[in-house]
This record gives sequence, structure tokens and C-alpha cells, in this order.
Amino acid sequence: MDIFRNVLNFGAGPAKLPPSILLEAQKEMIDYKGLGISVLEMSHRSSDFTKILNTTEVCLRELLDIPDNYKVLFLQGGGSGQFSAVPLNLIGLKDFKSADYVVTGAWSAKAAKEAEKYGKVNLVHPKLGSYTEIPDPSTWNLNPEASYVYYCANETVHGVEFQLVPDVKGAVLVCDMSSNFLSKPVDVSKFGVIFAGAQKNIGCAGVTVVIVREDLLGYAQKECPTVLDYKIQAGNCSLYNTPPCFSIYIMGLVLEWIKNNGGAASMEKLSIIKSNMIYRSIDESNGLYVCPVEVKSRSRMNIPFRIGNINGDSDLEKQFLARAAELGMMSLKGHRSVGGIRASLYNAVTVEDVQKLVDFMKSFQELHQ
Ligand SMILES: *Cc1c(COP(=O)(O)O)cnc(C)c1O
Repeated sequence: MDIFRNVLNFGAGPAKLPPSILLEAQKEMIDYKGLGISVLEMSHRSSDFTKILNTTEVCLRELLDIPDNYKVLFLQGGGSGQFSAVPLNLIGLKDFKSADYVVTGAWSAKAAKEAEKYGKVNLVHPKLGSYTEIPDPSTWNLNPEASYVYYCANETVHGVEFQLVPDVKGAVLVCDMSSNFLSKPVDVSKFGVIFAGAQKNIGCAGVTVVIVREDLLGYAQKECPTVLDYKIQAGNCSLYNTPPCFSIYIMGLVLEWIKNNGGAASMEKLSIIKSNMIYRSIDESNGLYVCPVEVKSRSRMNIPFRIGNINGDSDLEKQFLARAAELGMMSLKGHRSVGGIRASLYNAVTVEDVQKLVDFMKSFQELHQ
């Protein structure tokens, strides 16, 4: 629980925000820093909004140590918009108009399907029967003629996360980090493009961060919508059209909060502690709780599990969710495509929040074993 609410939000996104940020945004809602108007009412070309935009970018650059030869864009259209933007901007890097995709869950599968509209998509590994593991990168069949290699760092629905950045032998690497962005430090220089919707780990819905290496700008297909064209958006500092001003403002506050709480390295330490607490409860439950994901690919952000057996006892799962709701624990239901339970442990979820869930899991286990 936090100071002014008595629920715990384990939602997968949009997800919990730090309570102090909600209070700050509330305080500034009517009158932003004495200007007499709200950020919601401010011109995106005003000096005050420019300041918000610049401070947000500077803070992000600092948090991830983003090299100078990368542009930072704040776009609309969500992670899903980037499933189109990536091929539209990058498939033309090489004449063959093909791309390598690593498909380890629902989100990378969607991205690959979208890319098929614009070029040839090569799956670098045999199609997976279930999304519970990551095929060893050393076995990937990379096509040297591919314009880029695409993967999803953390599959939010299936709970599968890459622990390391895969070695793609110098190819342009594109990564969807929507659900684990800023949950740990990352070496940006290994990537051509990183993108992340804000509503999982760094803010509210509406803004998507794109970090793109400068030499990849200028290859967009002619049918690429202007608002998704990385070069045009970079040339206009994300102000080609009206950006999602309020979402950028909230993201700026969250980034500042991350910085004040020790940065990406601290977020990682906490996420290791929080996820280990839940995985331990699962592994020490004598089989009552079952996580389908292989141990070395388990996500620190989204933990899916079943109750009773690997396919889930629907009666027990219903009881679990109902009792959790009575205790104020929200949004623990697994994604509608996989069922079961899912606990999401983004940056704003505290160790105390997780301890309450662990205590509940233990007491539920005592009742049902
Ligand atoms: C949530 C999510 C998306 C989609 O984001 P939208 O903003 O709904 O388009 C894409 N990829 C991953 C990994 C996600 O978690």
C-alpha cells in the first residue's frame, strides 16, 4: 500500500506509477509552475514545453549513457506503431528488403507479421511450439543480406526475457524494450534502434521512446507516414506534429524519479530482489504454483504462473484471483491469450508490495495443499 491508496497494482501496463509523481502532477495540474495554465493547455512550441522536452531527453541520455551519435525521439502510435515504423524506416537499408526476426512471444510475433507487409521476413530459428524459452543465439540462422535483426527484450505476455544482448555479428540490431526499458542498464551502442512504449516502466500511455543511430536515418520507404519517419522526426526534434505533451511531461517526472532513486543500476538490483521473491514462492510451493518458462529465460518484469498444474486448475485460479482482489491486489489475471496468473513487477512496484503478494501466495498455498 502507499500513502494515499489501499490497493496494490500488479498490472502489465498501463501500470503503477510512483505515488509521489501522481501527487506532483496533481499539484501542477491546474497551474504549472506559476504559469497559470496546465501542461495540458500549453503550446508544444512554447519555451516552457521545449524546456520539458529537453529536460526529459537530457535525463534519459544520462540514465542510459546514450552516445552522441544516437537520436532520441518521442513518438505516438505505441510499441505497435513501431512494429510498422521499424520496417518502413529500415527494410531499405539493403537492396534485398529482408529482415531477420527472433520470435519468442506474442509481441515479436506481431512485429514479424507487420514487417511482412513491407519486405521479406526470415525467422532465424525454427518456429517455437510454445513461448517458454529463448533459442540459443549461437544457433540462429542469420541472413547476411538482411537489413536488420529484430528481437523483443522482454515478452510481456509470456514472461520470457533475454538476460544478455544477443551477438548478431555486426548486423543492425533492433530491439523492442517496451516492458523492461530502464529496469537495468543497457549498452545502447550495441543497437541500431531501441524503442519502448512508456506505459510499462517509465510513464503513462501515449508516448513511445525511439533511440536510433544517426547513420540509419534517411532510408525510409516512400510510403512511410511522415509522422513515423525517423529522419523527419529527428530533424524536427519530435515536433513535426503535436507530440503527446502530457505523456512526455509525466515521463520526464518518472525519469527524474529513477535518477533520484539510483538510476538504472538500482532499478536492476531491486528487480532482481522482487522477481526472486516471487520465483522462490513458486519454486518452493511443492508444485502448487507452476511457471512454464525455462529458468534461464525467466522475466524479471512479468511473471506468469499457473495454479494446481501446468495447465492451471481453473477453480483454484479463480479463487486465487478473487481472494487477491479482496486483499486489494489488482490486475493479477494472466493475459487473455494465455490465462492463469501474471504478476508484473515494474519499477514503481516496491519490495513491500511484492512481500504482500508473497505472503498471500504462502497463505493460499497453506489452504490448498
Ligand atoms: C505493451 C507492449 C507493446 C505494445 O504497446 P502498445 O503501446 O499497446 O502498442 C509492444 N511490445 C511489448 C514488449 C509490450 O509490452
